[in-house]
Amino acid sequence: MSGIVIAIDGPAGTGKSTVSREVALRLGLAYFDTGATYRVATLACLRDGVDLSNTSDVAAMVATMNVELILDPRAPRVLLDGEDVSAQIRTDTVALTVSKVATNLEARPILQEMQREVIRGELAGGYSDGRGVCAEGRDITTVIAPEADVRVLMTADDDVRVARRAGEGADAGTVREAVLGRDRRDSAVVSFHEAADGVHTLDTTDLTIEEAVGAVVSLAGEATQ
Ligand code: C5P
Repeated sequence: MSGIVIAIDGPAGTGKSTVSREVALRLGLAYFDTGATYRVATLACLRDGVDLSNTSDVAAMVATMNVELILDPRAPRVLLDGEDVSAQIRTDTVALTVSKVATNLEARPILQEMQREVIRGELAGGYSDGRGVCAEGRDITTVIAPEADVRVLMTADDDVRVARRAGEGADAGTVREAVLGRDRRDSAVVSFHEAADGVHTLDTTDLTIEEAVGAVVSLAGEATQ
């Protein structure tokens, strides 16, 4: 049997990471957080003192950085030069600067190609042994994996999205800026608020995680029948 690709996009705080991980776990798939590639690229630039407004220098760093992604949904990890930087890529410093890398039109295609390679790798073998991947990120259903078996756009009301992130422990103003400000900046290059043709919209405003996971798993079941 050939593998399955489930692609989930949408803005921050819709629950896409939590839901994607759980879906991957239930279906025995790899879990691929494409946002982590933008975050680790940002960290690599910050560590090396690369000027984030210099698009070519950033692209050169992205093309040569030594990154390894562990796609285990139980413990996804990102290694930079062999060091586990999974926590460092989640800091406010990275969250507030990542859009500079994401909107860099020289760096973005390099990361996009890296992401396509990860997905191809999971269909050929990889962590999932060919079972496939649940991949999430803002342009995954449209640009990276438009041929995915299941494509879902997760949405939720702004206040709910901010509240979910605030529940993770950060200061309220920073959270509001990190969630809504980041979406605004990212919107310059990706459209992730409206579903493209063939993409299922899943509004998670009033859904529990369990209900959202169930909805995606049943779409996957329909797609593989
Ligand atoms: O999903 P996450 O919050 O980790 O994404 C971090 C950032 O990476 C986003 O704010 C966006 O700038 C960028 N990103 C992107 N395209 C993706 C995934 C993430 O531009 N597919």
